[in-house]
Amino acid sequence: MISSTSVQSTPAAQSAAAGASRLLHSNVHHLSFFLPLQHHHRHSRRQSLRIRAIDAAQPYDLEARLVKRLNQSTRLKIAIIGFGNFGQFLAKALIRQGHTVYAHSRSNYRLIAESIGAGFVPDPHDLCEQHPDVMLICTSIISTESVLRSLPLQRLRRNTLFVDVLSVKEFPKNIFLQVLPPHFDILCTHPMFGPESGKHSWQNLPFVFDKVRIGAEDSRLARVENFLDIFRNEGCRMVEMSCEEHDRYAAGTQFITHTTGRILEKLQLESTPINTKGYETLLDLVENTAGDSFDLYYGLFMYNENAMEQLERLDLAFEALKKELFGLLHEVLRKQLFGKSEEGDVRPVLGKLPKRESPMLPPGAPQ
Ligand code: NAP
Repeated sequence: MISSTSVQSTPAAQSAAAGASRLLHSNVHHLSFFLPLQHHHRHSRRQSLRIRAIDAAQPYDLEARLVKRLNQSTRLKIAIIGFGNFGQFLAKALIRQGHTVYAHSRSNYRLIAESIGAGFVPDPHDLCEQHPDVMLICTSIISTESVLRSLPLQRLRRNTLFVDVLSVKEFPKNIFLQVLPPHFDILCTHPMFGPESGKHSWQNLPFVFDKVRIGAEDSRLARVENFLDIFRNEGCRMVEMSCEEHDRYAAGTQFITHTTGRILEKLQLESTPINTKGYETLLDLVENTAGDSFDLYYGLFMYNENAMEQLERLDLAFEALKKELFGLLHEVLRKQLFGKSEEGDVRPVLGKLPKRESPMLPPGAPQ
């Protein structure tokens, strides 16, 4: 059924609702028609009948048309800024769900964009003049600030929704709050999966979001929900948390994961005929992280204030482990060298000490 709240959800919804209302009135008008009266009437007269209730049977499927219009009203016009690895990956899902996508990037991705059903708009002025409902920032973490500052924001609609998908969250939140005018809405998100880990399905994969600043109007609240619905519809596990909290957790999980993946990548692990499950996990980890750009990894380090501490802890943990191993090794060697004496026997005496004057010879060399 068509609910009045959904009709008034977004500006697009409002215009669809107005359109639907016009459609109804025009139908009422057009559906006034003449029927011949019963045959037993002596004089053939015609009488005007007017349909007054929309529940009355219609000569065509009016409701289906209204529903179609309303569905269209929940569809968003989304501009993706940064059409690299992750931007393209997201675009496919947005288009599959019926949203209109305009891609914009430093490099020319026209052919790729068109092949998946998106428009490619290389000029940022042209892009903003499309008046997208959502500006979705998918640039590398380290380029985000300069990209954002270079956009002609004045060409956008007054209450455009800005969303980012950066793998760190406090940083884009602060930049958005600094750069965007107060009448723009801000939603910071992190889909915690990528083209590799989410290539088959997004079912149960975590999607973190923080509604940093959303205007109180119904249409603006509904627009954010429409956007979040994209991920709900794909089955993501929706996790609402502050950007600060995200970064604390992410440094201990995502940064450690990427660092471990990159260390293992340097070891050039190879598959063997006797792979254990654990080893397969390591190979998978390398595959999942090696595809990401170094910019992304570097961004995780530079733009999450908790990352340095995690790197130090990783270093300490490695040192502590080595210490433990070397400590045991040392004990074994000591036992070999001094074991008998330590058990109360005679201390081993070195065979012959080389004479002071004689040249130092390697052990076992004939004297
Ligand atoms: P990335 O290396 O982090 O970003 C590549 C994108 O940044 C490309 O669109 C690239 O544009 C743009 N870019 C880089 N330097 C630029 C510059 N100086 N000026 C303008 N644009 C620049 O790789 P990514 O995997 O596509 O990630 C994009 C964003 O999604 C990142 O913020 C990342 O943290 C986030 N994210 C990624 C994943 C993932 O699994 N990959 C998952 C969740 C979130 P051109 O290609 O046109 O040069």
